[in-house]
Amino acid sequence: MANKDYYETLGVNKSASDDEIKSAYRQLAKKYHPDLNKTPEAAEKFKEINEAYSVLSDKQKRANYDQFGSADGPQGFNGGQGFSGFDSSEGFGGFEDIFNIFSNFGGRSRSSQAREEGDDININLVISFTDAAFGCEKEVTVTRKERCESCKGTGAKTNSDYVTCSECNGTGRVTYTQQTLFGMTRTVGTCRNCGGKGKVVKNKCPDCRGTGLKTVTAKIKVKIPAGIDNDQTLRIEGQGNQTASINGVPGDLRISISVQPHSLLVRKGYDLYVDVYAPITTLMLGGKIEIPTLKGKQTIDIAPLTQSNTKYTLKGKGIKYLKSLGSGDLIVTLKGEMPKDIDKNTIKLMKELQNSISEKSYPKTNNYKKKLGD
Ligand SMILES: [Zn+2]
Ligand SMILES: [Zn+2]
Repeated sequence: MANKDYYETLGVNKSASDDEIKSAYRQLAKKYHPDLNKTPEAAEKFKEINEAYSVLSDKQKRANYDQFGSADGPQGFNGGQGFSGFDSSEGFGGFEDIFNIFSNFGGRSRSSQAREEGDDININLVISFTDAAFGCEKEVTVTRKERCESCKGTGAKTNSDYVTCSECNGTGRVTYTQQTLFGMTRTVGTCRNCGGKGKVVKNKCPDCRGTGLKTVTAKIKVKIPAGIDNDQTLRIEGQGNQTASINGVPGDLRISISVQPHSLLVRKGYDLYVDVYAPITTLMLGGKIEIPTLKGKQTIDIAPLTQSNTKYTLKGKGIKYLKSLGSGDLIVTLKGEMPKDIDKNTIKLMKELQNSISEKSYPKTNNYKKKLGD
């Protein structure tokens, strides 16, 4: 599984102490904060650092990550490359630290640091039984908000239409005085004129009508890992709605999976079950029967005098485990079946058969009769 290496992201080794992790994170956060670092890769790098820190700074999440390769532990789903156990709805665990760090940088206000977050998008995807068993790649179509290319998300027609807010002088914060029961109170709040952006738009961008966002139909390739089951959700980080702000964090795409049933095989966990029917004479005389598997038909040998409902376990012929090596089993239950129509001659043969087999030769029948008090 090609998991992100959070330790590598923070440049620490696996045995790093909490303090070492914190210190590494602080240094990297300063280096890559998008307000200080204008290189194009800074925002992505900053996001990765935050993600790594949110896991490694939390005892439980770090333990889960060390053990299962995911902050969510064994129940949470982590599909490997392209997916992540990190849930942005929990917030960046490192934000408090970021504020502490950046309060030293030119007295920036908290609101100008708080980054916008795009909304997650939830979709449903129906896949076939075999696609779930073996994994597959699907292309999904989502309608999402993307940053307007024309105005780069500012919502302004031209650069000179994007001006500093006069109410807050670009700080995004305004002190409001209010008369309350307890007298006059002063609260520092988000500037209502610019919504905290510190900038206002004079002439709106015609392409996005000043919103900075456009509704776009995007086609996204999704890798579905082998072993996924009904009602599990794949989270694809960063493929949800974008924010107008270039420093914003896009939401995630959450794909709820529905798996179509197989015509013969029934899945329970990672094991597969199938009832296989064979003529009663095959059970009596022995022979070969064909059974369905995930990879086509297979033949198994039936010994003579096999009881009905005998189970055969085919090790490793079930569904591949989602989070580890190996697979479940295929459990075959053999059912003997009677013919529907027989001729007089066969009835005669069967009577001969009945007379030639002593009733004592039927162990379960005998045992049952004893219990019944015969
Ligand atoms: Zn625009
Ligand atoms: Zn303002």
